[in-house]
Amino acid sequence: MNDLGVVCMPKKVIVPRRFMEWLRENHNDYTHKQLAFRADCCVDTLKRLLHREGLQTFEGAKYVAINENPIKMWNRPCIRCKCEKSRPKNQYVCTPCWGREYEDT
Ligand SMILES: [Zn+2]
Repeated sequence: MNDLGVVCMPKKVIVPRRFMEWLRENHNDYTHKQLAFRADCCVDTLKRLLHREGLQTFEGAKYVAINENPIKMWNRPCIRCKCEKSRPKNQYVCTPCWGREYEDT
């Protein structure tokens, strides 16, 4: 799903733990814009995430802790590989497929 109409919701970012693991390994290989697209958040929020995780540092008071809500899961089949492993609700592709998204194109 390449929905570019991502809504910016700075106070309600849900970050799957597996995305954070992926981010830790790969954040240097992508632009903030690409990372934000994958995280389904705006660039500012993505930067806050990187900052909070200690992956990158940014100046400014706005890069402080963001709220983390409990993650709702679902078992909807992945739109790419059809696997039904539970993943965060509203995530239509499984995390492995998600991680491959840019390599495929
Ligand atoms: Zn998949």
